[in-house]
Amino acid sequence: PLPTIYAITPTYSRPVQKAELTRLANTLRQVAQLHWILVEDAAARSELVSRLLARAGLPSTHLHVPTPRRYKRPGLPRATEQRNAGLAWLRQRHRHGHGRAQPGVLFFADDDNTYSLELFQEMRTTRKVSVWPVGLVGGRRYERPVVENGKVVSWYTGWRADRPFAIDMAGFAVSLQVILSNPKAVFKRRGSQPGMQESDFLKQITTVEELEPKASNCTKVLVWHTRTEKVNLANEPKYRLDTVNIEV
Ligand code: UDP
Ligand code: MN
Repeated sequence: PLPTIYAITPTYSRPVQKAELTRLANTLRQVAQLHWILVEDAAARSELVSRLLARAGLPSTHLHVPTPRRYKRPGLPRATEQRNAGLAWLRQRHRHGHGRAQPGVLFFADDDNTYSLELFQEMRTTRKVSVWPVGLVGGRRYERPVVENGKVVSWYTGWRADRPFAIDMAGFAVSLQVILSNPKAVFKRRGSQPGMQESDFLKQITTVEELEPKASNCTKVLVWHTRTEKVNLANEPKYRLDTVNIEV
């Protein structure tokens, strides 16, 4: 059987949320044997996301955890608690595996990125931790792991090249086995500088030597760190509202 791909997506309420999630669902629906773990950054599961998931047409789990107010500040890492909630769910679901987990692969899929279907074929064969290039990130057209003789030897990046794993959240996948055999590995707030989340997490579960390069030895971009422009709502009415209340 194909290893199950678990995609953990943190998401938060904003004008473009439904558009982002619709686009992401349209991608993920086309991937065989994929389980979508959607984690709302909210005190409760919203109607909007519940309805969307119910109609998304793929296996999913709907979680929520609010980011404490003190962490909602520019410059601080985003979605730490949500990704950890996804990890906790995964570990709980497989707690009876006793080390011998069903084959699975975990991937952190932010709601605004762009994913090719090829990417999922590549990550499906992850044995421990696999890596690949990410487009439109770090102030460059792409960042990538530099591979020599099938091994990652350094990082092509324009930003903080001193990071032990100079890679975006969209640039790696982890086998379920590795997640279960490192039960304490989580995203940390304390002592984690901005942009160090990925590196801090990967340090807990692997080494650079162990990384498995995908996407033709990391020479192809199969995922893009796209970001959606903030919508202009300057002309929203303050009175004489529409006669119907439409979910957008
Ligand atoms: N996110 C979240 N709560 C927030 C901000 C972001 O859950 O307060 C989610 C967001 O929906 C996305 C991920 O965290 O899936 C990364 O956020 P964003 O795309 O804004 O980060 P960037 O593109 O700057 O890396
Ligand atoms: Mn983003």
